[in-house]
Amino acid sequence: MKRFILLIMTIVPLISAAQRQVTDAEIEALHDRIISIDTHNDFSLGYCFPNAGFSTAKGQVSFEMMIEGRLDCAVFAAYIDQGKCDEAGHEWARNRAETMVAGLKRYVAENEDKGVVVYSAAEIERAKQSGKRAMMISIENCYCFGTDLTAVEHFYNMGVRMATLTHNGANEIADTCVDQGVKGGLTEFGRKVIAEMNRLGMVIDVSHASRLATLQAAELSEVPIIASHSGVYGVRAIRRNLTDKEILAIAAKGGVVQVAIVRSFISNKPKGEESLADLVAHVDYLVKLVGVDHVGFGSDFDGGGGMRGCRNMSQIKNVTRALMEAGYSDEDIAKMWGGNTLRVMKAVEEYAANQRR
Ligand SMILES: [Zn+2]
Repeated sequence: MKRFILLIMTIVPLISAAQRQVTDAEIEALHDRIISIDTHNDFSLGYCFPNAGFSTAKGQVSFEMMIEGRLDCAVFAAYIDQGKCDEAGHEWARNRAETMVAGLKRYVAENEDKGVVVYSAAEIERAKQSGKRAMMISIENCYCFGTDLTAVEHFYNMGVRMATLTHNGANEIADTCVDQGVKGGLTEFGRKVIAEMNRLGMVIDVSHASRLATLQAAELSEVPIIASHSGVYGVRAIRRNLTDKEILAIAAKGGVVQVAIVRSFISNKPKGEESLADLVAHVDYLVKLVGVDHVGFGSDFDGGGGMRGCRNMSQIKNVTRALMEAGYSDEDIAKMWGGNTLRVMKAVEEYAANQRR
């Protein structure tokens, strides 16, 4: 008997230290209590231009899938392909961004029983209370601002509340992760755009920007900034992922790194062999480096996102499962899934409100 008790005493800690099994009910109960926000998708491409070569959108995004996956809010980007930095290019980009923002609002109007467009952190919280999915609108690539500073306010007035400074090609604002050093980081115009976004209350997103532009944006901005869909270079060394220096700068500003749920950013394993444990490795790294207050998620669905275990919005709960099984507390998960982004948004909104006074 004594030997049996000793055996149990040895085994029990081993079992509890091993991965714990989490039930669907536990995950759903947690999602009922928290607000979950996915800070990037490219749904607008396939939705607004179904006949223009983008109809191959994977169909990873919809209000129905958000309901199934228990995702409360998603940031839907008007994605602008980078073209020539000339007058014709800028006009094309501006028109395209306007078309996409209008298209996103049309999607909500056609599904008003399920979703609502939100313009502030408080409206995200209200949408949760009313049982509706929240769509926040962003722009991916401020190419559509051209060289016109008033464009920032124009798009803010259209409802845009976050903007990714660049895509994968230098624009009038900054260099990018694939175009490092062309413009020397942020341009003079880019610096003015940062100040204008601060003044209006538009969240600055540095995913895709060059290393120098990211550090400069973090330094210049009066409020926290985010990287809406990026991985960690220290875990997977590719140019779209953030180096420790960039992560530390974003965190020092009070911002958030939203880990991209993109297979190629997360894992170098052959396709189909990756798992959400690989995603959690990026989370672990960030938590160790800057703490849980600076970590979140941005799926990049319909724009290259998705990996085994989380292939579309209906599988968002699996990320929560992986975090719970890895030992993250409910409080940590609440911060990562939305609390941190809401904190950034509130700081951005408060600063803008003070400018208006
Ligand atoms: Zn992107």
